[in-house]
Amino acid sequence: MSSLVKSNLAVNLKIAIVQLNSQIGQIQPAVGRTWELLKKFNNRVSSTPKKPDIIIFPEFALTGYNFHSRDQILPYCCVPNKGPSYELACKVSSMFQCYTVIGYPERTAAGDKLYNSAIVINPQGELVFNYRKSFLYQTDEEWDCLENPQGFQTFPLSFKDIARDQQGNVQDVTLKTSIGICMDLSPYKFKAPFHDYEFATYNVDQGTELIICPMAWLHSTSAIAGDDNETELQASMDNIAKNCTRENIPTVGTQGEFDIDIDGHETPRLPREDEDDRNLFRELNKPDMCNVNYWLLRFLPFLGLKERSEWSVAALAKLIVRGRLLRSSYIGAALDNYWSFKNKNAVLAIANRCGIEEGKTVFAGSSGIYKFNGQEYENHDSLDSTNFSVELKGNLGKGNEGIIYREVNFQVSR
Ligand code: GLN
Repeated sequence: MSSLVKSNLAVNLKIAIVQLNSQIGQIQPAVGRTWELLKKFNNRVSSTPKKPDIIIFPEFALTGYNFHSRDQILPYCCVPNKGPSYELACKVSSMFQCYTVIGYPERTAAGDKLYNSAIVINPQGELVFNYRKSFLYQTDEEWDCLENPQGFQTFPLSFKDIARDQQGNVQDVTLKTSIGICMDLSPYKFKAPFHDYEFATYNVDQGTELIICPMAWLHSTSAIAGDDNETELQASMDNIAKNCTRENIPTVGTQGEFDIDIDGHETPRLPREDEDDRNLFRELNKPDMCNVNYWLLRFLPFLGLKERSEWSVAALAKLIVRGRLLRSSYIGAALDNYWSFKNKNAVLAIANRCGIEEGKTVFAGSSGIYKFNGQEYENHDSLDSTNFSVELKGNLGKGNEGIIYREVNFQVSR
């Protein structure tokens, strides 16, 4: 075989996601529950070969999310290699000999600039990457958060002995990785055209193999901050209170009710039209399929779509304006290839927080692990979780804290 011919490596990546309900001003209790949870998890897996290669925490995992001013958030902001989130991540990495990713509020050393960031700690306990959120949500803007000046980024993550070549020899592998923090998945400022799919397009174009998303994504029952219609706001808050009473949970949601999902099944696919009533917050141990479907839709460039081969010519015309190439793909279609991602694989891990803040903001939990398999399936190519080109390896429920662990087998070409 010519050395120019690329060959495939079969990768087995073990991922754990920690889903937390942190509240503002309660960092130590959040750290305490994290250790309680991780110890329970460790007791269940320590006598097995199950050992995560990477553990992922949500956006602002320990601090709570709804900060309303620079002064309010400043005491919680840290430089990347100091503070409670960094310390926790280092200890987690050393306990499991794995990578740890955790979201936290960042301030620069001079203290003048604030970011919504996530650090990556390697198995040796070293800080290897700091990603700053690029697309901001309105809540981030309330405390003067700045956009990542570098925009979306990729970085290499090297894993020991998790791949096999075609002869079956065990190999190390370096995965092209990116981080997207919550709003990074949405259209820029909710104003950009929906079909730009900025984050997914960036990752298809870059050939990203591992996509990590720490999030504080809202459930649809949330009363949206900044809503100036007082009556509507009150009605939403009353509805949240009613949901809490029915579910028998405090107005901040559940804490310490851990769902530990190690060997669980794949998540049953659910078409968009069969989703729950959006005013209900119930079945806390089941994922919020409204959001799962929406997140997958935001990754449409990674999804198989039979009709793409037909509309690609029209779509590609949008890529060229006055003879200049604007971007290398549009909804996954590139100039030289009707689907850039065809026959490739990528893994998506979404670590979303749960819980409720201020009786207004209900977070959607439902942290999950997905594989995009790069295949097209006739009649199974809808724009939701029923599309067979995405494998739903598993999701936590919407309302409880917990941890989900999955091993994902996928191919990379080297
Ligand atoms: N689009 C997200 C949402 O609606 C943004 C939240 C965030 O960035 N934390 O929940």
